[in-house]
Amino acid sequence: MAPHKRDYYEVLSIPRMASTDEIKKAYRKLALKHHPDRNPGNKEAEEKFKEISEAYEVLSDTQKRQAYDQFGHAGAQAGFGGFGGGRAAEGFGFEDLFGDIFEDFFGGGRRGTRARGGERRGIRGEDLRYTLDISFEESAFGKKVALDIPKDVLCGTCHGSGAKPGTKPAACPQCEGTGEVRFQQGFFSIARTCNRCRGEGSIISSPCTACRGEGKVRTHKKIEVDVPAGVDTGQSLRLSKEGNAGAQGGPAGDLYVVIQVGEHSIFSRENNDVICDVPISFAQAALGVEIEVPTLYGKVQMKIPAGTQWGKVFRLKDKGFPDVHGYGKGDQLVKIIVETPTKLSSEQKDILKKFADISGDEVEPLRKGFINKMKDFLGCLFLVF
Ligand SMILES: [Zn+2]
Ligand SMILES: [Zn+2]
Repeated sequence: MAPHKRDYYEVLSIPRMASTDEIKKAYRKLALKHHPDRNPGNKEAEEKFKEISEAYEVLSDTQKRQAYDQFGHAGAQAGFGGFGGGRAAEGFGFEDLFGDIFEDFFGGGRRGTRARGGERRGIRGEDLRYTLDISFEESAFGKKVALDIPKDVLCGTCHGSGAKPGTKPAACPQCEGTGEVRFQQGFFSIARTCNRCRGEGSIISSPCTACRGEGKVRTHKKIEVDVPAGVDTGQSLRLSKEGNAGAQGGPAGDLYVVIQVGEHSIFSRENNDVICDVPISFAQAALGVEIEVPTLYGKVQMKIPAGTQWGKVFRLKDKGFPDVHGYGKGDQLVKIIVETPTKLSSEQKDILKKFADISGDEVEPLRKGFINKMKDFLGCLFLVF
């Protein structure tokens, strides 16, 4: 505690008969002048602020003031549970702390207010999302597209200021251009975004007619987009600063172009591989055949060996999608579908029957085993009933 305390009336420069209002007024005036926020790093102002706060806390309270008037500093301290320099000093610490908390708390729009030190940060514009439909082939080879994006751009007439050309936004009279209003609640100095100027610090008396003072206008902008080869559904391209314009000097948002790839009649995609089901006949599968297979890069001749089973997958190297990040290429996977013949002519039926006769049981060991098992099962069934 300071060895010598100045008289509280002297501290606030008020007469001993001062009214509660006069005390309040005097304190406000001094507190504003010596407030640490206005005197950053100034130790003397900080001490002064503590001193006036302490004086105010005693003199604004009728009981404490009476005790002080009768017994001086000792009275104020002894009579009121250790009140005095200590508490006021703590009070100052709290106030400072709360002040910051409240600033953050009320600061939803603070991004748009002037930062401490007067620098304006502005509000960033919104990001935009645009879904771009492309075909399977376009996703494989890439594409240049011209998009027509509806978005907010800075007003060309007022260049975003919102003020009529030739006029200037004036400092907001309510917050004196700071964008925030401070008010005293007991010992707490609370800052809140100014509602008159919404934290901008300035107000526009004659608004720009082109944007009605908004600083931005709705328009359509043509944007060229390079869709890279290999993109897939759900991937997005970020176009920096092509979103909505910012406000109060803030940057524009980004534009996200989200890719949606259409279905293909014969191909599908798995990672960077192209999947293609190729039907062949029962005879082709048994005897082997050379077939034409479509790929993204044109037709390819492919040898299907004799005895190929249904579902067999053949790999055509490097016939898949180019990797979108440039890491090589996928393959094409050709899956063989063996078709069982339907609608046989009588001649075809005769030949197939002959084929079955000649083949006998030996080529169908699986079938034979199945028939035997079935007979056993049905036999048991008859015994049960
Ligand atoms: Zn304008
Ligand atoms: Zn204001």
